[in-house]
Amino acid sequence: MNLQTNLPPLTAGTLYLVATPIGNLEDITLRALRVLRECDVVAAEDTRRTGQLLKHFGISKPLLSYFQFNEARRSEEIIERLRRGEKVALVTDAGSPGISDPGERVVKAAIAAGLRVESVPGPCALVAALTASGLPTDEFHFIGFLPHKSGQRRNQLESLKAFAGTLVLYESPYRIEKLLAELNEVFPERNVVIARELTKKFEEFLRGKPAELIAVTAKRSRKGEFVVLVSPQ
Ligand code: SAM
Repeated sequence: MNLQTNLPPLTAGTLYLVATPIGNLEDITLRALRVLRECDVVAAEDTRRTGQLLKHFGISKPLLSYFQFNEARRSEEIIERLRRGEKVALVTDAGSPGISDPGERVVKAAIAAGLRVESVPGPCALVAALTASGLPTDEFHFIGFLPHKSGQRRNQLESLKAFAGTLVLYESPYRIEKLLAELNEVFPERNVVIARELTKKFEEFLRGKPAELIAVTAKRSRKGEFVVLVSPQ
C-alpha cells in the first residue's frame, strides 16, 4: 500500500464529497477536517446541523443549503462557483453524500462540465453494517429506503428474491416493524441482521429469522436508526 503523507493544498475548482459521522463525532477523518477548514464554501443538506458540526470542530465557513428539493437550482450555483475556481465541500446530515442522500445530481453536473470531483471517504452506515453483520460481503445489493407504498415495497422485495448476494436496506424507526413483517412474508427462511444505532452508545446487532426478530424487537426500543440486511439463500 502506498500511503501519501505529504499533503498538497486543496485544488481550485474542485467539488469535495466529504463524509461526516453517522453518530460518533470521533469518526470524522483528519482529511475531512482539513477540507472543511480549507474550502471556500460548504454545501450542506441542513445548514443548521452542519453549522453545529463545524462549530464543534472550531471551523467557521460560509454555508450553502443543498437538499433534495433545491438540488437542481443549487447544483447550477455550485457549478458556477467551481468554474470560478472555488473549492466546494459537499456534506449531508450524516455519512457519505450521495448514499440515500443528496449529491448525485451535482456530481453528475460537475463531471459533465469537465470539473474535478474528489471523494473524502469516511463513515457510511451501509459499510459499517455490512462489514460487522457476519453476512457475505463479496456480493451485495444496496437498496437504501424502500418506497412507502405497501404494494411497491412488496414488489421490490419480490424482485430481489433472485439476487445471489446480501441485501442491504435502510429503514426508519416508524417502519421497521412493517419491514420485518414484509421480510417474514417474502424471505421467511433467510437470516436477517438488524444493525441499530451504529457507532453510538447503544449500538446493537440483532440476528435471526424474520419471525424471531419480530418477537425480539416487540420487547425492545424501536427508536434509533436502522440498517437491515438479508442473507443470500
Ligand atoms: N448518507 C448516509 C450514509 O452514508 O449511510 C445515509 C443517510 S440516510 C438519509 C439515513 C439512514 O441511514 C437512516 O434512516 C438509517 O437507515 C441509516 N443510518 C444512518 N446512520 C445510522 C446509524 N448510526 N445506525 C444505523 N443506521 C444508520
